[in-house]
Amino acid sequence: MQCSFVPVSAESHFPIQNLPYGVCRRPSGERCIVTALGDYIVDLTALEALGLLAVPALQGRRVFGSGTLNTFMAQGRTVWKDVRQRLQQLLDAQEPTLRDNAALQARVLAPMAEVEMLLPADIGDYTDFYSSREHASNVGTMFRGPDKALQPNWLYLPVAYHGRSSSIIASGTDVRRPCGQMAPPASPSGTGGSAGPIYGPSQALDFELEMAVFIGPGNALGQPIPITQAEDHLFGMVILNDWSARDIQAWEYVPLGPFLGKNFATSISPWVVTMEALAPFRVTAPPQDPPPLPYLHDPARITYDIHLEVYLQGEKMNQATRLCTSNFRYLYWTLAQQTAHHTVNGCNLRPGDLLASGTISGPTPDSYGSLLELSWRGTRPVRVGDETRTFLLDGDRVTMTAWCQGEGYRVGFGSVTAAITPALWAG
Ligand code: CA
Repeated sequence: MQCSFVPVSAESHFPIQNLPYGVCRRPSGERCIVTALGDYIVDLTALEALGLLAVPALQGRRVFGSGTLNTFMAQGRTVWKDVRQRLQQLLDAQEPTLRDNAALQARVLAPMAEVEMLLPADIGDYTDFYSSREHASNVGTMFRGPDKALQPNWLYLPVAYHGRSSSIIASGTDVRRPCGQMAPPASPSGTGGSAGPIYGPSQALDFELEMAVFIGPGNALGQPIPITQAEDHLFGMVILNDWSARDIQAWEYVPLGPFLGKNFATSISPWVVTMEALAPFRVTAPPQDPPPLPYLHDPARITYDIHLEVYLQGEKMNQATRLCTSNFRYLYWTLAQQTAHHTVNGCNLRPGDLLASGTISGPTPDSYGSLLELSWRGTRPVRVGDETRTFLLDGDRVTMTAWCQGEGYRVGFGSVTAAITPALWAG
């Protein structure tokens, strides 16, 4: 498959095999739904208005006019497949409709660099899982010792907490260092003393390398999604950075879990790569022992071979340093298991809800997906250019990228990036 009017290099994340969905603001101020091809955006809102995306399954309905992807996400697999096929046809080198119409090209194509990418959907609810055995084991080892690394429930259910959707931000938006309560400083005698907690800017600001899936059609309240039908509810994926203030988190998280240590900002990449585009990169997830309960028994155990990288660049550095490489396929709990577990009690998911994976750490120290693990709770400073880090400093920029490697092409996610700005703190 080739496109004759937009050049696409082998390293591009956006060949015609990908066709991710996003939302952007064009220089005219228009907000529109777009796909990506090479270094260009293709305006789907305009194509639909011109009648060029009508597929039988839509029965005349418009799905790209509302400025968010929620309506399209709600349509389900038949519409998604038909629209994708229609788009690939329109953009194909053999098809004259767009190829031979300069005026139409001028209307619907624009350099990606000229548009501002926005959040792709109205995210009603956001859930963050904890599905990497390596990450859970590393954190558990640090805080409870190697004998109690995994909690007794971890191998039986995909642990998660409900996150905050209001502070999910588009890539490129700065993240302000949060202030909050932190544990009392240890007394000189080591007994803890009677000092109260301290308040101030977090001194242990961290990133978490995650991916997240957008929910397509939801389920009715009270009606669980069986694991064998979970795939029908998954629209596509993004990269997610779950910014975490480890010192705030450590003081607050017992007994109800993460709160202010997590909900100040969560960054996502702008392009939603569909499950159809990811299909060629399906692999089998790691074996599970003990076997999970029947409602979590996943005969397919489908996951995806998605290469992940994290880069850090300090304010005074000329270039970014790669901190780690990992892979989505390391995760112990699959997307289908997460979906089945989330709804087994009747909880309803809605189109545009976001389910994050949890930090994706691999088996080797260079595959750890957070500074907490890379610096082993601050005890092993990480080299970054000519400097070192245990946690993030003001001015630091964290960039995550992800792609699937095909034969001669990539299906990529682009990147998610953000810089840390100083806390609003008067002392
Ligand atoms: Ca997380």
